[in-house]
Amino acid sequence: MKRHAPSDDGKHLLSKVGAPLRANVLNKGFVRLVDAMGGDAAVVDAARVCYDSRSKGEAQDRRLIAYLMTHAHLTPFEHAVFKFHVSTPIFVARQWFRHRMASYNEVSGRYTEIKDEFYIPTVWRAQDAIDKQGSIAAAKLDHKKLSAKLAAQVRSSMAAYREMLAAGVAREMARLVLPLNLYTQFYWTVNCRSLMNFISLRADEHAQWEMQQYALALAEFFRLRMPWTWKAFLSHAWKGRNPALSEAAAAGQADGQP
Ligand SMILES: Cc1cc2nc3c(=O)[nH]c(=O)nc-3n(C[C@H](O)[C@H](O)[C@H](O)COP(=O)(O)OP(=O)(O)OC[C@H]3O[C@@H](n4cnc5c(N)ncnc54)[C@H](O)[C@@H]3O)c2cc1C
Repeated sequence: MKRHAPSDDGKHLLSKVGAPLRANVLNKGFVRLVDAMGGDAAVVDAARVCYDSRSKGEAQDRRLIAYLMTHAHLTPFEHAVFKFHVSTPIFVARQWFRHRMASYNEVSGRYTEIKDEFYIPTVWRAQDAIDKQGSIAAAKLDHKKLSAKLAAQVRSSMAAYREMLAAGVAREMARLVLPLNLYTQFYWTVNCRSLMNFISLRADEHAQWEMQQYALALAEFFRLRMPWTWKAFLSHAWKGRNPALSEAAAAGQADGQP
């Protein structure tokens, strides 16, 4: 049977671009799409297996995806899977790893020597007095001075780490001097349902700004690989606030179909 969904062979996007896809995030982080299985067609097939049928053409398939999304009939979305290689500061990874519906493997600071890679923001935010977890823009802060202070702190921590290694301290102990803005790397395999949950929670303005940047990078991979599901998600499931996603919706990425 002819399939109509645009990314049904698991390699559609990767082969088109010719190299693993990578988005740079923050000063040194990234999200790289290593592999993917299924796409919009996999969702349609999974939903229609109940009726022993498959694709019925683009218009009907898109309507079906919108229906599944609107009615929170989400298990068919579990049949499309993404494998990402991610580099984030440790404080972002710590929030990320709270998302249990995914598989993780992280670089070991016991096996390997820590790389000199740290997140140094150039813009600092002030504490939000209303949202106790949140932050707000702060024009009055001396951003350059704060970044320089952090960079000096990082240099000192890294020097202490290297001194300890040189003195024979085990890697698993020497790392105790390193701060939360150190980058870590991990593989993250996640199905589309869980990815949508992640984007809903972490692209929203209540998430930490740095985390939002990663969620937006993931959203872009999602959009490219599963355009029909992406549109349905934006129209029927996304309830958060983020200017980038509002713009995407306004630019016609959201699906007008029921
Ligand atoms: C803005 C923000 C602030 C946060 N602040 C804090 C904080 O201060 N402290 C803190 O500890 N966490 C905090 N979190 C983390 C949050 O509580 C969740 O742990 C995290 O967002 C993962 O969400 P999840 O459980 O939906 O995802 P997953 O773990 O991927 O789970 C996906 C879904 O599977 C189901 N599920 C998974 N496990 C279970 C289970 N054991 N029982 C029943 N159903 C399950 C649920 O439906 C869940 O939504 C924060 C998250 C956000 C977005």
